[in-house]
This record gives sequence, structure tokens and C-alpha cells, in this order.
Amino acid sequence: MSYKVLIANRGEIALRAIRACKELGIKTVSVYSEADKDLKHLRFSDETVCIGPASPTQSYLNIPAILSAAELTSANAIYPGYGFLAEDHNFAEMCEKSGFKFIGPTSETIQKMGDKITAKTLAEKSGIQIVPGYKDEIPSDNDEFKKIARDIGYPIMIKATAGGGGRGMRVVEREEDLIGHAEITMQEAKNGFGNETIYLEKFIGNPRHIEVQIVGDGKGKAIHLGTRDCSMQRRHQKIIEEAPALNINQEALNKTLIACVNLCEEINYEGVGTIEFLYEDNQFYFIEMNTRIQVEHPVTEMITGFDLVKAQLRIALEMPIKLNQDDINFHGHSLECRINAEDPDNFQPSPGTITKMHTPGGFGIRYDSHIYGGYRVPPNYDSLLAKIITQANSRSSAIKRMLSALDEFFIEGIKTNHPLHQRILHDDTFKENKHTINYLENEFLKK
Ligand code: ADP
Repeated sequence: MSYKVLIANRGEIALRAIRACKELGIKTVSVYSEADKDLKHLRFSDETVCIGPASPTQSYLNIPAILSAAELTSANAIYPGYGFLAEDHNFAEMCEKSGFKFIGPTSETIQKMGDKITAKTLAEKSGIQIVPGYKDEIPSDNDEFKKIARDIGYPIMIKATAGGGGRGMRVVEREEDLIGHAEITMQEAKNGFGNETIYLEKFIGNPRHIEVQIVGDGKGKAIHLGTRDCSMQRRHQKIIEEAPALNINQEALNKTLIACVNLCEEINYEGVGTIEFLYEDNQFYFIEMNTRIQVEHPVTEMITGFDLVKAQLRIALEMPIKLNQDDINFHGHSLECRINAEDPDNFQPSPGTITKMHTPGGFGIRYDSHIYGGYRVPPNYDSLLAKIITQANSRSSAIKRMLSALDEFFIEGIKTNHPLHQRILHDDTFKENKHTINYLENEFLKK
């Protein structure tokens, strides 16, 4: 059987998908917006289709245009990548109904895990520890509501069940603010997500962000590929990621890994997914499951030798794949630095033309990027330009290798966060692995 996959994305992940398809002998169709006609991956794709103007709503989020392109090119399947339509259950359903295989879990699974209360309930049922809180209907009686919040203990977090992308969340420090904050969150959730349901969680003060990579065959079998630590964040945006997460309580880790696999087996999870946790005081607290490939997937690939994108394709297209936990071995440590087109001092986006650049290379260094000298970074999309990934026997060696890679790397013509990465990698708190999700904003950037 010959396959043709339409890649409904852009940038580095589109290139990553083409590389995986080529290795599997799968033909590719790349869709692009008018602003993206010079993207590198279009030259490596078997077919290309322009799907609309630069604005994402008219191109990469334009479901009819993407489905028409799939129809026109007789593609069998659609690869969503991350961002854009990757976690849109309506899109997955429309693909299914139009006869195109959506490369990822079923629309029903995406919908379930996209609803935070449902996801929390399913996670808890599989033995995953969740953040203590309250997820039943909020009582109309204010005193009853206040009592529930008091029992959880302040500070608490009000969250919209349909929230996402860091929106639909509010911290409440004091009882006086509870009712007002709840009303605002409900209103915002209704306007932003069409669903005003909220729930309460204890606010976890100073955690690390630890996540577990899983892969499921859609038929009730799943494995895990260990952990990643993505605690180096600014405004909930990850900047540096690594695998495995170090200095984790072994007992809590073993329990969590087993529970994650249980969850995926119970929901017949198909494809790759990430279960995200806040980790504090030796405890894991589930926050959400992402039903797609993550930006930071390479660090897991580097320490396991397991190609996650090829696994997505193989599982979706029913090509043979072996998923045995015993076959997964972990080697050394891997780091990823996200190079963004932004001012390193004020984080403002910095689109424009790259006049000159040099990419790093060498033993244990991987470079995933769509940019090149002369490329114009459009202002319409995410600022991610490149991912520099290193692998070495230990964390400290992976850091040294990254510093050497960053020394070789330069981009001229636009600003990037390259100098920020160099500063972080020289920072003692980072080197000692003592940073939490608050460290960058609350301490490092104030130094
Ligand atoms: P989204 O789907 O919008 O990304 P998440 O539930 O994943 O929302 O939460 C995003 C971020 O918000 C987390 O990475 C964490 O930094 C913070 N957060 C979420 N829940 C809590 C909590 N209960 N306590 C403290 N921080 C939280």
C-alpha cells in the first residue's frame, strides 16, 4: 500500500514530519500560506498547495481549505504537528468524516482530554495523583462556595474546564476575592471557550514542571518513554527542556509512570501523548494531557533512540511497530534550547530577514530548524526559529556541549534569545538543577 500524508503545519515541525515520511517511504503534501512560500520544507515535499493568506485563521486554521487540499492531492492522512489544529477535536472529526486518517488519537479522545475536569477524573481513576481541589458543580450559595475554598486552603486556583494555552486561570489569595474572581473567570471562559464551567485547585507554590511521554497503539497497549523536565519557563512558555528529569523521588516516579501507562491503556490511546505534572515536595500533581507531539520531543528521542514522529505515522497508518516497555533503554542526558525570534531583553517579537547565519554541528548535537540565510521570518506566527539539542553521558556534559553549540551558532539580521540561553547555561542554579517554574521570571531575570 502506498501512502500520502498531508502536513497541516509549518516551520520546523513540518520539516521534521517530511523527514520521517521519507524514511518510511510515504509521499508528502505540504500546505502553506502566502507568507510562507519560501519555507524550506516546501522544496523537500512531493507536492505543495497554497491554502490562503498569511493570517492563520485563513490558512493553517482554515479547515475547509486544508480538507480541499487533501482531496485535491488524494492524500490518505493528515499530520497536524503541534499548535494550530493539533488538538482541535472538530478538525479530527471532520478528517475522519471526510475519509482522511487524522494522525493522532480519535476526536473523542481529544475532546475528553481537552476538557480539564474530564481529564482529571480519568487520570485519577487510573491512579494518577491530581492537584487537590473541587471539580463538582459550584454551589450557588456563596457561603457554601467559600467553605469549599477554605477547605482546600488558600491560595487557590480557579480554572476553566475548557481553558488552554495558559488562558482561563486565576489565582485567588484571599477569601474576599473568591466570588469576584470566580465570576470573571466564568465570564471569560464563556466568551473565550463557549463553556463557563470552572473548578478549583490548590495553588502549587513553587513546583518543577515534569512531564511523561507516552505512546499507545490505539488497541489498549501503551508504553512510556520516561520523563522530561521543562521548568525553565517564562509566562508558561518553555525555553529549555531536558530528559530525563533528575532528582525525582524514585517511588513517586515509578508509581506515576505506571499510572500514566494505565491511563493510556484504559482510554485505548492512539499515538503519542504527554502527561504534564507539577512536582513539589516529592509529589507529582497531574495538570493536563497533551494529545499531540510536543515541541520538546527530540530530547526524549535522543535518550531513547525511539523516533516519536515515525511512531505516530506507523501507528496511524497501521504499519508494523513494536511497542515493548522492555525494549526502551535510556542513555545519558539530553537538553534542548528553543531559539526564538525575539529581543533577549524585552522578549518582543523580532521578525525580519536573516542576512547571515551559521548552524552548529558535531558529535551529540542535533539541530531542528526550517530557517536559512536570506529567509524572511514572517510576523504572523510563533517565534520559534530553531531547536538546538545536545546529548551526552551526563547532564553536565550535555550543558557543556550545548555551550559549545551555542558558540558556533549565530544569526544576523534579526534579534534572537540566543544570548539568554548562554546566560542561563552559565547560571549556578540551573547548573545545579535547582530551578523551579518561577525561577526565570522571579529571580534570574531580576539579577
Ligand atoms: P493550559 O492548558 O492553559 O496550558 P495548564 O493546566 O497546563 O493550562 O496550566 C498551565 C500552567 O499554569 C502550568 O504549567 C503551571 O505553571 C500553572 N498552573 C496550573 N495549575 C496550577 C496549580 N494548581 N498551581 C500552580 N500553578 C498551576
